[in-house]
Amino acid sequence: MNNQCSGNLRQGRGMGKGRGRGGAAGRGLGGAMGQTLTLDEMPDRSAHRQEHVAQMRSQIAASPRSVLSAAEQEDLLLMREEEKIARDVYLRLYERWGIRPFGNISGSEQAHMDAILALLEHFGLPDPAHDLAVGRFHNPQLQRLYDALVEQGLRSREEAVRVGLLIEELDIDDLQKAARRTDREIIRRVYDELERGSRNHLRAFYRWKTQLGVSYQPKHLTPEVFTTTALSPHEDCALSA
Ligand code: MN
Ligand code: MN
Repeated sequence: MNNQCSGNLRQGRGMGKGRGRGGAAGRGLGGAMGQTLTLDEMPDRSAHRQEHVAQMRSQIAASPRSVLSAAEQEDLLLMREEEKIARDVYLRLYERWGIRPFGNISGSEQAHMDAILALLEHFGLPDPAHDLAVGRFHNPQLQRLYDALVEQGLRSREEAVRVGLLIEELDIDDLQKAARRTDREIIRRVYDELERGSRNHLRAFYRWKTQLGVSYQPKHLTPEVFTTTALSPHEDCALSA
């Protein structure tokens, strides 16, 4: 069986090529591409990501379709916009600071948004991010969170790295909570996959934190879990057919 997740160093063409309604990524990147600081270089994984999303989509399409509980619906709607916060904040901070992980990781967040969108469509739920531009949110609480994080991250590179760490630990925590509120295998698989991505992102930002000598107190994970996760090795794709 071809493991689409192992050949992950192929070069893709640009990042964040959205599919259909999730396609706002890429706007606002402007001229930042050419002036990147590469303290922590990561490979361009966009081709791999597209295969990965396609694989998740086909697994979602093949899974049973039935009415979700109120909690399951609420969590999917929240996670769709929470992944958008990550994508949009990283686009803004990449534009401002040219720190490469922000550019790469925003492409990964687009893939996370696409995966949640596929679940929303499969289960017949409306997309809260439909037609929303970069930086715009349906949920007012998430709009406030986005605004605050961008404001913080634009202050300095150090603050930008703190914002990255905060988004990732929040995402890990919320994905774990959401996974506990569903028994559906396909939803759990997608959440697991997104959480694995978040752990890798946390590791990437933690390397930046170390390189810049930034202090950081975790707010959503315990200090033990935060540090253990940040210092453990990169996890390759766990999704298999
Ligand atoms: Mn994510
Ligand atoms: Mn992330």
